[in-house]
Amino acid sequence: MTRELERMRWPELRDDIWPVALMPWGATEAHNTHLPYGTDTMLGREVAARVATACAARHVNVLALPAMPFGVNTTQLDVPMTLSVMPSAQLLVLRDIVHSLAHHKVRALVLLNAHGGNELRALVRELHPSAPMLLSIVNWWQAGDHGIFDNAGDHAGELETAAMLHVAPELVAPIGTWGDGATRESVFDGVREGWAWMPRRWSQVSADTGVGDPRAATAEKGERFIAQAVRRIAEHCIQLSTADSQTLYRDR
Ligand SMILES: [Zn+2]
Repeated sequence: MTRELERMRWPELRDDIWPVALMPWGATEAHNTHLPYGTDTMLGREVAARVATACAARHVNVLALPAMPFGVNTTQLDVPMTLSVMPSAQLLVLRDIVHSLAHHKVRALVLLNAHGGNELRALVRELHPSAPMLLSIVNWWQAGDHGIFDNAGDHAGELETAAMLHVAPELVAPIGTWGDGATRESVFDGVREGWAWMPRRWSQVSADTGVGDPRAATAEKGERFIAQAVRRIAEHCIQLSTADSQTLYRDR
């Protein structure tokens, strides 16, 4: 049985308690020349569905919520058909989702982030004092072992390409057409050295919108990476399902 809310019918869920909800948060943006605009949203949705299924096999009810297709892409708006929502708008959406879930006795909400521009920590810090549930953020692409890849890359690189080759190969353009994801470096010393930060200007930093060379990606690497991420995220959800907000720490 699916654990994806958008595919479920009322009788399938009304009599159960759902202690944990997983909310995938994606984006609508160009991904080099070979991956679709919905890459982040699709990967978030798929990982959430697999996590919920893995938890069901352990007899823990985790509900995968519909994926949010819009993320923060304020520095890519010069790339055609990039769609962006502001962090302030994300805060309002998240507040309403938390409020809705509170009616349904959800104990923990995991934000399954799939897009680097989504700065969800600030939102969680703001909502935390009033949220009647535990809030957690997982950047799904950080939950697996990057050693699987030659160079995981940042955006439409080997990791995301491998994941899409596994999840939706029919949406990946033929390999000969892939851009190399080569990037230019910042003119600022602090940014290059990593102690200063500025948002990327995507149309200046790379020719194909990609950051990271995708060409070593394979479906097999994607399958292995996603399986590992799913195992770890499922374990996190299972721990959250019984966590007591008064005893979140223990002695070493
Ligand atoms: Zn992406």
